[in-house]
Parts: sequence; C-alpha cells; structure tokens
Amino acid sequence: HAAKQTGEPVRRWTPALDERAGEHVRLGAEIRTALDLGQFRVVYQPIVELPAGRVAAVEALVRWEHPVRGLVSPAAFIPVAERNGLIVELGEWILRTACHRLAAWRAGLGPGAPDRISVNVSARQLARPHFAATVAAALADSGLPASCLAVEVTETAVFEGGQAVVALHELRALGVRIALDDFGTGHSSLGLLQTVPVDILKVDKSFVDNVTEAGRHTVIADALFQVTAGLGLTAVAEGVETAAQAEALQRLGYRYLQGYHFGRPVADPDFAAARTPLRAATTVA
Ligand code: C2E
Ligand code: MG
Ligand code: MG
Ligand code: MG
Repeated sequence: HAAKQTGEPVRRWTPALDERAGEHVRLGAEIRTALDLGQFRVVYQPIVELPAGRVAAVEALVRWEHPVRGLVSPAAFIPVAERNGLIVELGEWILRTACHRLAAWRAGLGPGAPDRISVNVSARQLARPHFAATVAAALADSGLPASCLAVEVTETAVFEGGQAVVALHELRALGVRIALDDFGTGHSSLGLLQTVPVDILKVDKSFVDNVTEAGRHTVIADALFQVTAGLGLTAVAEGVETAAQAEALQRLGYRYLQGYHFGRPVADPDFAAARTPLRAATTVA
C-alpha cells in the first residue's frame, strides 16, 4: 500500500474485516449473475385487518435462492445491491413482479384478493430522477390500479428531503400510497410527517416486542397510534409474533397487524384462511 510506504497511519485490516470486504465484493458480483439467471423470488406476507382478520394487504419481500449459499437473507444482499447500484434493476424487477402478482390475484380471486400490495423501495431507487415514471410504467404494464400499490420507504431515505421527497409527491399524484417503514427506529422526527407525504406508518417490531408489558415500548406504541390516528393516517404494527401482542395492540387501537402470528412471507399465501387475533383458548368468552 502507498500509505504504508509513506509511513502514514493505516487502518489495520483484521483478517475478519478483510474476509467480510471480500465477501461483499463477491456477493456484489454474484447479484449481477443472479439477476441474469433468475435466482430472485418474491414472497408475500399478509397484513391483516382486525377484527375480522381479513388479509387487507400483502408486503412483497425479495428472496435469493442461491445455488450454493442457499437462501440468502435480504438483510445480507440488499445493502450490497444498494452500494453497487444493482438495487435499481433488482428493485424494478421486484416492483414489476409484485404488480403482476396482485393483478393476477385480483383477476382470479375477485374481492377475495388483498386490496393492496406493499413494495419496499430503497433510498437509491427513490433518488433516481424518473422513479415515479418507472412505477407508472409497472402499473400500466400489469394493469394494476395505482390505488392498489403502496411503496414502503424508511425515514432515513426521506430525511434529507431532495429528490426522494419530490418522487413521493409524484407517486402520491399517481394515486400510490406511501408507507414509512420501521417507524421509530431511524431519524424519527415527527416533523417528517409534516414535510413528507405519508399515508401509512409501519410501527417497528421493536415497539411490538414488549407491548404486552407495561413499559416504555408500550407507551411509545400507544403514542404512535394516537399520532397516526390524529393525523388521519393508517398505522400498521410490524413483527407481531404472539396472540398476546395482537390483543395488546388491538386494545391500543391498532387495526392493521403484520407478523409471523398471522403468517410468514410465502410464495402463495392462503387469503381465505381466517386470521383472527385471539388465542383459540380465549375466543370462547
Ligand atoms: P422490512 O421491510 O421491515 O420487512 C419486514 C421484515 O420482518 C421481513 O424480513 C419479514 O420477513 C420480517 N418479519 C415479518 N414478521 C415478522 C415477525 O413476526 N417476526 C420477525 N422476527 N420477523 C418478521 P426480510 O424479508 O428478511 O426482510 C428484511 C428487510 O430487508 C426488510 O425489512 C427490508 O428492509 C429489506 N427488504 C426485503 N425485501 C426487500 C425488497 O424487495 N426491496 C428492498 N429495497 N428491501 C427489501
Ligand atoms: Mg417493509
Ligand atoms: Mg418494516
Ligand atoms: Mg422492520
């Protein structure tokens, strides 16, 4: 290294760090191949509406079926795709796949299909000048009405304003819903709700985890619901794993819940199955 030769302080690369850096480079290159070979899949997780437990919406979540590594988590490859820019191509493929999927469910199931599909969008996609046009084209090609689509963005992606917020206004004008994902974990300025067009707040799993106990998380889950309702927005609680959590959230006023308790992300969810919040043992009064 040049830095070493001039005697400047250099960062010490531990074998572990080196290994991880190399891993990122390898993964990054493999994402290109995976796109070409069609190794990505989209799975769908129900978002249920209480009290009936109807599947009101689904969230599209990407999966990578890697021939050697097996199922690779999006938490591992999305950040890599964001860094090397391939998220733009991958993200558009996910968006188109999801729009086509809901259009097909609507054609096949009629009113039994979910009302909406929610697609995660990275900051890097949102910041591209023609993102709203890309979305409009995906809707037109699939025949899905704009009102049947929501884009999920994080607070971090829109925190700095700029083109990302312009894109959200354009999407809104198309009739697409905007959801703020993982709400409460990022920069979390409630002021964002005044400057960014938002329809849905997804309250992060970290507030749901302990919502059955009296404590800080429950106070925050309660307050976030009040803010959401007061502003006329829709609150969705994420990561609901138990009936007790579902009941506690329902008592706070939440009507839309998502989590393993109601269904894991799968290729082909069963929309007819009842997903009521109550434990079997407590449903009999
Ligand atoms: P997210 O958008 O907040 O998605 C929710 C994550 O929580 C998903 O993980 C989902 O499988 C998981 N989850 C849902 N219910 C439960 C639960 O009850 N318990 C627990 N422990 N987990 C639950 P997944 O699919 O691994 O995705 C992780 C993150 O990767 C997503 O978080 C999102 O930020 C990103 N991601 C996933 N798919 C896409 C995509 O298509 N595009 C982009 N840009 N990002 C994506
Ligand atoms: Mg999401
Ligand atoms: Mg989320
Ligand atoms: Mg989350």
